[in-house]
Amino acid sequence: MAASTLIVILMANSYGIHAAPISHNEEITNRYFSTLVAGAQPKLAELTLFFSMMPKGGDLHHHYSGAMYAEQYLEWVDRQHYCVNKVTYAIETDKALIDAERAKTPGQRNCLSSAEVLADNAIYRELLQHWSDKDFSNHGAIQPPPDRQFFDTFGYFDPVSTSNNNAGLLLLKQRAIQENLSYIETMLELGPMIEDANFDAKVLQAGVDRDALSAQMAALTTALEQDREFNRKIDNYLADIRASSAGVDDAQFTMRYQAFVLRLLSPSQVFSSLLAAFKAASQSDLVVGVNIVGAENLNVSMRDYSLHMQMFKFLKAKYPRVKLALHAGELALGMVPPEGLTFHIREAIDVAGANRIGHGIDLAHETDAIGIMKKMRERGIPVEINLSSNEFILGVKDESHPVTLYRKYGVPFVLSTDDPGVSRNNLSGEYVLFASRYKTDYAEVKKLSYDSLRYSFLSEVDKKRLLKALDGRFAKFEAEIADLVKSEAGKK
Ligand SMILES: [Zn+2]
Repeated sequence: MAASTLIVILMANSYGIHAAPISHNEEITNRYFSTLVAGAQPKLAELTLFFSMMPKGGDLHHHYSGAMYAEQYLEWVDRQHYCVNKVTYAIETDKALIDAERAKTPGQRNCLSSAEVLADNAIYRELLQHWSDKDFSNHGAIQPPPDRQFFDTFGYFDPVSTSNNNAGLLLLKQRAIQENLSYIETMLELGPMIEDANFDAKVLQAGVDRDALSAQMAALTTALEQDREFNRKIDNYLADIRASSAGVDDAQFTMRYQAFVLRLLSPSQVFSSLLAAFKAASQSDLVVGVNIVGAENLNVSMRDYSLHMQMFKFLKAKYPRVKLALHAGELALGMVPPEGLTFHIREAIDVAGANRIGHGIDLAHETDAIGIMKKMRERGIPVEINLSSNEFILGVKDESHPVTLYRKYGVPFVLSTDDPGVSRNNLSGEYVLFASRYKTDYAEVKKLSYDSLRYSFLSEVDKKRLLKALDGRFAKFEAEIADLVKSEAGKK
């Protein structure tokens, strides 16, 4: 009798089983999982328990500053001797202003310490609503558009977001271990930059051709490579990443970093920042890739999109081993004129040479979407799917989410969190969303966990190490589920 037949017989009574051999634990887990997603109403609480326990290999689309919760940032406000403006909810950093506020009696102060914020529940709740997506959808206050709400949060916590990196990364590590996540590839810091008005004018002038553009990029590269101040900034950037990551890596958890550029800055700022990011990635094993971030529908982001892809192409030719994960197509119908939805994923792949695509939401509107998916499938270019983020920022969810297309046409994908502190979610929650929205099975979600390591930018040695450890974690998890099933059966 085949083992699988034996299992089917053993499990014929619901998923009850009394003495399953260890080697059958995966099949028991498979069977158990199918009961959680069967029917019109997936068992959300049980799925949450299941995915909290399930080993989740990596979180590959993760912004460090968006991963911290507002509560943590508030704690750092005091550590840096800043205060929070109780009208605007901005963090005040001006020493003279802060001293003047401290001299006032508590009732007269407009700028509050963290303790004062926490002592006033109305102010505290209001702060959470400014610094994150919290409570956006559950009451009737006058609100900004959700995409603006989301991206504006970064401006509020910016004064404290990158000055406590080591403490923040250690916190994320503990949180990851708690939810059985073994790896995070986080976008930690913006690459250092310069501004050059001459470069900006030349690359933005009407009718500039590729050769002229390449010549401008080559000239600026040469100038920056001879610029001691610029090189010192890259050295400082790398030193900061080393210091920030102290104590983060151990047998239980691994963290690596992506350097990134901000797409809404001027062309010279983006290019110099990108050059610094490529150099950082080529000089350090900790920096495993380069990304481009920022709201894609803003005027400058849209105007310069193709220019940015040319910049990536230019630098990828110079540093061919540097890996690219590019936010591309984080756009929904109506956000920009329809032509704007037709080429972002394609250019990220064909021009920039992206190894992974972030979001890829405008897929169905892209010219030759089928051809794009074919290329992604054949070349093994996965898309990073961020369900909570896409629902909040773009209003794209359920059957309108293109994960349905990627999945149908065999494009590899991974589940990730994007900004779990702003969205106030975690990776287990993203798996719950996926499993409850789309008809899936245990084999698929297990594969998603493995794929999140396979498609990481880790070195081959690290990848092997984490994949091997994941085998062990899954064996333990499946044994736990088998025990759970056994104990449930025992109660009947
Ligand atoms: Zn993102």
